[in-house]
Amino acid sequence: MSPRASKPAATAGALRNSRRHVSLDEGLIFEKSAEGKRGMELPPLDVPPVDPAEAIGGSRVRDAISGFPEVSEVEVVRHFTRLSTWNYAVDLGMYPLGSCTMKYNPRVNEHIARLEGLASEHPQHPTGMAQGCLRILWDLETCLREITGMDAATFAPAAGAHGELTGLLMIRAHLEQQGNPRKTVLIPDSAHGTNPASAVIAGYGVQHIPSDSRGLVDTARLAGVVNSDVAALMLTNPNTLGLFEGEMKHIAAILHERGAQLYMDGANMNALAGIVRPGDSGVDALHLNLHKTFSTPHGGGGPGAGPVLVKQHLARYLPVPVVAITPDGHFTLDRDRPLSIGRVRAFQGNFGVLARALAYVLAYGPGIRQATEDALLNANYIRKGLEDFFDLPLSGPTMHEVVFSDARQKKNGVTTMDIAKRLIDYGFHPYTTAFPLIVSGAMMIEPTESESREECDRFIEAMRSIASEAETNPELVKTAPHSTRVGRLDEVTAARKPIFHWKP
Ligand SMILES: *Cc1c(COP(=O)(O)O)cnc(C)c1O
Repeated sequence: MSPRASKPAATAGALRNSRRHVSLDEGLIFEKSAEGKRGMELPPLDVPPVDPAEAIGGSRVRDAISGFPEVSEVEVVRHFTRLSTWNYAVDLGMYPLGSCTMKYNPRVNEHIARLEGLASEHPQHPTGMAQGCLRILWDLETCLREITGMDAATFAPAAGAHGELTGLLMIRAHLEQQGNPRKTVLIPDSAHGTNPASAVIAGYGVQHIPSDSRGLVDTARLAGVVNSDVAALMLTNPNTLGLFEGEMKHIAAILHERGAQLYMDGANMNALAGIVRPGDSGVDALHLNLHKTFSTPHGGGGPGAGPVLVKQHLARYLPVPVVAITPDGHFTLDRDRPLSIGRVRAFQGNFGVLARALAYVLAYGPGIRQATEDALLNANYIRKGLEDFFDLPLSGPTMHEVVFSDARQKKNGVTTMDIAKRLIDYGFHPYTTAFPLIVSGAMMIEPTESESREECDRFIEAMRSIASEAETNPELVKTAPHSTRVGRLDEVTAARKPIFHWKP
């Protein structure tokens, strides 16, 4: 494999290159505008004209929007089609962005979510007219309870972090009901970064627990810090090092003995579904990321779902409304729940995501276990293929993702970011860089179950080739990518001083 490596890194300023066809060098749509260009021509009016100000009321008529692009239809179509070819997508190749589970999702689930009766359903339909949709929620809850070993669920939260907040508010309500909401949430240093943020928003102080030398929760240390101020431990499992926290039962016992709760961040259920049921290990509340494990594609900030599943003692605090069954067998929405934490979102959450998730679970059935095993196999296959070329900071068996560090390549000045950018030249989306924070120069790789052995081999070959480039030609790696329309961007300026507004 030898990607093109000739073009020097472009800067944003040197972006336009007149020798390249415009399809490789697309500008802004505003730049194509010329006065009078139209996307369509209407025939001359053959009825008496209506004065818009009279018809809809003068104050509602807006002036022409100044500076709006005037372009033809084909220009609009080509503009957006060209931009779409600049994207990397899981439909093009492997997307090993660790912690994000960027897997390929079967198209049939998209089809289901778009079925006329589901896509056009309005959340304010009376429940008598929405029995089918309520049944989807009910059935999905039944399936996820079985998969997680929990007792009850809410689908309201729109994302994983939103689920964390919802779960913690329920834990808070439960402890308050017992007389004292407590003050602190414990979070291992290998947790996902959203965990401390959610704890703070839920009104708790955060205390970090350092991992032991295996990269796992240090249970002796934990036992030393759980006291009557501790509300809960938030445990990401598998943790962000891609390692399984196998002592969940023991951890739960330490917490429960002192009246604290165990919250599990189950965003990475991709590594557990069909094999481990967190509810069987003493977890009191957890969230899932349906947009990671259960079929909804993500990456553009689009709709997600972070359902929270709880054990019976927390069920009365679930957000309202809760899907229930009446004695005569009809589905209904129960709003009469005096101890509920209230609403966390409008209606029932993102229904299309929930419909996809049910389609996914029903299509796979017990095959979910194999999807999980394939995700673990792929990550371990890549780990084996790369462990002689990159530094492996922790040696425990890998779950669905593997974390290397750039320690070996750093000797030649090549960092995790450089290697990630160079991967683009080989046709892969970069892995996750510099996360988890507890590994310096982290390279977090999650192939997911979607990838064939051939694609994993191509990835391993690309990474080995970059490792050798880092020895023989570090400059090539440090200035990557070389094959893209735009070279390395100034990400700090892009984040700190974004320009959202085009000016002529
Ligand atoms: C992705 C992820 C989250 C956050 O989920 P969002 O839907 O982005 O809010 C939380 N925890 C873990 C372990 C994750 O991987």
